[in-house]
Amino acid sequence: ISSNVTGKVIIITGASSGIGEAAARLLAKHGAHVVLGARRIDRLEALASSLTAKGESAIYQQLNVVELEQMKDIVALALERYGRVDVIVNNAGVMPLSPLEALKVDEWNRMIDVNIRGVLHGIAAGLPVMKRQGFGQFVNISSIGAYAVSPTAAVYCATKYAVRAISEGLRQEAGSDIRVTLVSPGVTESELAESISDDEARDLMKEYRKNSIPAISIAKAILFAIEQPSDVDVNEMIVRPTAQI
Ligand code: NDP
Repeated sequence: ISSNVTGKVIIITGASSGIGEAAARLLAKHGAHVVLGARRIDRLEALASSLTAKGESAIYQQLNVVELEQMKDIVALALERYGRVDVIVNNAGVMPLSPLEALKVDEWNRMIDVNIRGVLHGIAAGLPVMKRQGFGQFVNISSIGAYAVSPTAAVYCATKYAVRAISEGLRQEAGSDIRVTLVSPGVTESELAESISDDEARDLMKEYRKNSIPAISIAKAILFAIEQPSDVDVNEMIVRPTAQI
């Protein structure tokens, strides 16, 4: 149990499954007040009650990160309940992969909206609060797709390159009191591939996902970044299966 995490108020977007859920469980176990957001409110309710039943601290609110007002609302909820926001984990993301020539323009836009604009909304809602407090941390979840592009993943990788660029820019500008961490997972067990509507991309992904690591492996990286002393800023972590090329 990490004393540097105990009592911290940590907002997690996309906490209804996969990496966000695993992070919520691990951080709550370490004594954080987790504030859970996602669109599937039934999942959040079940997760929050399983944590509170163990005596851990969790609240939740429905959140679509595409809507700036909803991101502001969940930050307001955390402030109202706990009077501070220590960390925002910008984790919500979608990955409907397809070859560019399939022209799935709506899916391109959805990835841009959730993966890029969603992270920006987390920053827009959280940065003024952290500046005012004089402390805070953003943990942005990117991907190994932020370092290399592969077929069917051009737009997804573009959104993750963007998250990496935004995180580095934020780190430089945010000032000495605010930490910025980029966590880039390799293939990890989650529901992420379920949004793929393209047959070719889905078959490729099935093959690719055979070596996946459990979501707790990424949650541990998030915990590591948060539990460092406030003058230690872990900026980038890539965590992938040993067998992944
Ligand atoms: P999941 O699909 O299991 O989780 C994605 C989460 O994002 C869900 O909780 C979903 O909740 C939420 N979400 C999606 N759209 C929105 C939205 N508009 N507003 C709020 N929440 C939203 O996948 P992962 O756990 O794998 O994904 C988490 C992050 O990890 C993503 O950013 C992903 O790109 C990244 N990642 C994952 C990898 C992997 O192999 N699993 C590899 C590299 C990066 P709901 O539908 O209830 O809103």
